[in-house]
Order: sequence, then structure tokens, then C-alpha cells
Amino acid sequence: MSVMEKLQSGAQKLGLSLSPRQLSQFYIYYQELVAWNQRLNLTRITGYEDVQIKHFLDSLTVSLAWPPRKNGAAFRVIDVGTGAGMPGLPLKISFPNIKLTLLEATAKKTAFLRHLSQKLGLENVAIAVGRAEDVAHQSQYRERFDAVLARGVAPLVTLAELALPFCRIGGSFIALKKGDIGPEMDQASRVVSLLGGKLREIKGVNLDEFSDKRVLVIIDKVSPTPEPYPRRPGIPGKRPLLAPAPEPDGNMRHPQDDDR
Ligand code: SAH
Repeated sequence: MSVMEKLQSGAQKLGLSLSPRQLSQFYIYYQELVAWNQRLNLTRITGYEDVQIKHFLDSLTVSLAWPPRKNGAAFRVIDVGTGAGMPGLPLKISFPNIKLTLLEATAKKTAFLRHLSQKLGLENVAIAVGRAEDVAHQSQYRERFDAVLARGVAPLVTLAELALPFCRIGGSFIALKKGDIGPEMDQASRVVSLLGGKLREIKGVNLDEFSDKRVLVIIDKVSPTPEPYPRRPGIPGKRPLLAPAPEPDGNMRHPQDDDR
């Protein structure tokens, strides 16, 4: 009897064929997630089929948006607010050559991530404990990644401020979203360029496995993120950036200019 059959058939639709070793890594992931979830609040999704689809396959849909190849050099990925490791770890299992950083503010969750990466025998997985607002100002993280990923962390306008600073110019930020993202997009699209980004595409994920309009919002990094961003911890969520408005004399100012 093979394991993780739902995941395997879903992944095939994404053009990914998972080896027996990869499937068994996913099975271990599932078991550890459920075991640790008894003590830690990691996820509400714990059923065998649900985890395969709503966690693992959902994470793998990112592969619709990226080419994890870069002239031989390792493709560097950061997952911002990774929680129990998603979408980063399922992608690492499926694309073992990427260099992955998992960023998570809650230390208890990073204990799980450390345990799991070791148990899965994964190499080139770095785990950073902290808030994106702080970590994104450290030079070894700022504008260092080819792809910045996030799922379930914050509305796009907040997320863009947290995520784009990590992205190197020429790289991209990919947010996993679902449902009606129209209003969120309207709010975000006006500040993306302020943060050095440019919307490339909102890519629909058309798999029968999902019935709730899942999309990937793909934003390319085209210019450096100005130094004040992200603002201090909590501010990007509490006071989302507003679009720059021209003043009567033609100068631009931002209402949050004084925050950092
Ligand atoms: N990406 C995971 C978890 C989503 S829950 C998934 O899709 O399953 C959101 C997670 O982001 C939580 O674990 C929370 O601790 C973390 N988080 C929220 N804001 C953050 C921030 N500013 N910096 C780092 N982590 C953050």
C-alpha cells in the first residue's frame, strides 16, 4: 500500500512526480505534525487526506509560479511566517536543491521545525526565530532571496511590507491567497511600487482538489525597498501603508514617514 496517494496524484497535475523517498518524507511530516499538534497549536487541519491536500499540495502550487533554477547556483527561498513549515518545507522536500530559510516569530513553532528538518534529513534549511519587521533589517537577510513566500500571515498590503524587503532585485514575492482577493489587491497594489515591487500576475490555481478560488499573487522585485521598511514590529499590520498622495506643491510624502 502506498502512502500519500492524494498528494501524489495532486502533485502529478502540477507536473511533479514524487519519489517513494519524497512520499515517505511527507508521511513523516504528517505524523510529526499530528503528534506535536497535541502539545502545540500548529494547525486545525489534521485529517490524513486534508493534510495532504490543504497543507502539502497547496504548498506545492507555488511551483506554478517559480523556476527554482538559477544558473547552477542554489535558488534561495524564504518563507515568512512559516508556522508549521508551510509552504516552505513541502517545497524543500519536492525541490531538494533549494536553499530554504524558514522565518517564524513563535519560538515553540521553530522547535518543531528544527526537530522535523532533522528527522527528514534535510540539508540547507535555516530556521530564523523573529519577526519579519526586525529580521528584514539584518544585512544577511535583506534583499538576499530569489523567492519570498508567505501563506496565511496577513493581508497583502501588510504582507508586501514584510516580504518585499527580503527579495533581491530580479527575484519575486509569491503570496498564497484564497477567496475574493479583490479588495485586498486594490489596497496593496497602490503601495507595491513604493516598496520596490511590481505586480506580475495573479495566477489562478485550477485543481479539482480546491473549491475555494486559490491564487498565487506574484510580485516581482524591480527596485530596492527604501530603508524605513518594514516599519517597527506591529506597525505594518496596525497602520497599513497608504498610497503616496501628491501634495499641492507636487512633492510626495507618506503619512508614515515618521515611523522609523
Ligand atoms: N504559513 C503557515 C502559518 C500561517 S499562521 C501556514 O500557512 O500554515 C501565521 C504564522 O505567521 C504564525 O505562526 C505567526 O507566528 C507567524 N507570524 C505572524 N506575523 C509574523 C511576523 N511579523 N514575523 C514572523 N512571523 C510572523
